[in-house]
Amino acid sequence: MNLQHYIGGEHVPSVSGATFTALEPATNEEYLTVSAGQAEDIEAAVAAARKAFTEGPWPKMPAQQRAGVLRKIADAIEKRDDEIASLECRDTGLPITQARGQAHRAAQNFRFFADVITTLGEDVYRVASAQLNYVIRKPIGVAGLITPWNTPFMLETWKLAPALAAGCPVILKPAEWSPLSASLLPAIMEEAGVPAGVFNIVHGIGEEAGAALVAHPDVPIISFTGETTTGQIIMRNAADNLKTLSMELGGKSPLIVFDDADLDRALDAAVFGVFSLNGERCTASSRVLVQDTVYEEFVQRFAERASRVKVGAPDDPATELGALVHPEHYARVMEYVQIGIDEGARLVAGGSRPDSLPVGNFLSATVFADVSPKMRIFQEEIFGPVVCVTPFSTEEEALELANDTRYGLAAYLWTNNLRRTHRLAQQIESGMLWVNSQNVRDLRTPFGGVKASGLGREGGKHSIDVYTESHIVHVAT
Ligand code: NAD
Repeated sequence: MNLQHYIGGEHVPSVSGATFTALEPATNEEYLTVSAGQAEDIEAAVAAARKAFTEGPWPKMPAQQRAGVLRKIADAIEKRDDEIASLECRDTGLPITQARGQAHRAAQNFRFFADVITTLGEDVYRVASAQLNYVIRKPIGVAGLITPWNTPFMLETWKLAPALAAGCPVILKPAEWSPLSASLLPAIMEEAGVPAGVFNIVHGIGEEAGAALVAHPDVPIISFTGETTTGQIIMRNAADNLKTLSMELGGKSPLIVFDDADLDRALDAAVFGVFSLNGERCTASSRVLVQDTVYEEFVQRFAERASRVKVGAPDDPATELGALVHPEHYARVMEYVQIGIDEGARLVAGGSRPDSLPVGNFLSATVFADVSPKMRIFQEEIFGPVVCVTPFSTEEEALELANDTRYGLAAYLWTNNLRRTHRLAQQIESGMLWVNSQNVRDLRTPFGGVKASGLGREGGKHSIDVYTESHIVHVAT
């Protein structure tokens, strides 16, 4: 199979003819050749998108009409539900049952932002007998969207939907390890009636195609999801052109369990939080902090549940943990397992490749207990099915441990103490906190992180803020 760029409504190869190959995580065999975009391909995509912005109907279209197109995109995605799920399963190694949920959420992203733009008002400020001041939201211009390899289709649509809803033409640069499901988007956009030039894809390596998009002066906004270190490079490279940046970065999110919590439900959430989506989830609860009074019981039950997580072929509906995305990433995750052992953490589940799966990037659900905050496995994002469990005795200690990393994306709190909940909610350093709940999203709420987990918020009207400029008009009355 051969994937090309999609620029100005046409499928085109790279100007240079360069390509790269993608591997199938379950076998590590090459199965896809992809055009490798360079600066000249980004130049062509920016020219097409810029034309759509300055001359085309999209930015000027009434919100109702644009929302109609977005709803058609959602319909076209839903029609391809099974196809999206099976491409994503093959491309990323996600279990097929979980890939299906991602396709559903992708359609929901478009329907949701169709509703947002048709219900969003603009602000008016009145100074009695003097002035009427009102805000006009304008699409910011050509949006550069750079996305990671985990749950690629869902994360691509999480940016595409609000950018298009706001009236911006877009250039999507999918991740090089999982470019396949994005190849369905051109047909979906055409079927829904998105004008040529409004939606563009340039595939390629981050340091080439991604960097060229970040450096281009006619792309005033970069919305990026990926690693913190990449985010830092992008910020530096975007500085010359003073771009708007939305940065959704890494995480090392704590799940805190007090002894008054419903332990069964907390255990379910802990298993789901770090082993679903292969543990390749930015909001994974990869550090579990447990009160010492229930610690040993929790560790034993957690280890037992982890050892029951079924690792297997991604396309088998019985599989709960599939293949990690790429041999390079697999090697990195396996290195962290060794680091955990060398640091003296107690390995209570997993830690190796299941004997029944000799090829591909498979790792059993892995639990380390007695992890101290000084250990690298406590501090660094592993981004795989590996979790650290750490005991605490007091609320103060729990808080200190929760905040003791450079990240601050999500946090999860399990307690039935109301006052403690509100006390901790005000002090935990994270963009998002779930209390007595696993990660359930409400798309209207601000999504994003603090500290090294990101800058800015997306979700609901916050996303529209990212892709628009507010223009204030002062009228004397
Ligand atoms: P990555 O940073 O390696 O790559 C992300 C994207 O950036 C890819 O498309 C890549 O090609 C591109 N890129 C790389 N170098 C670039 C450069 N110099 N200029 C421009 N683009 C460049 O991240 P990844 O390994 O694909 O994804 C995993 C990471 O993403 C994890 O850290 C995870 O926590 C994070 N993530 C965060 C969220 C969130 O919402 N906060 C969601 C999902 C994933």
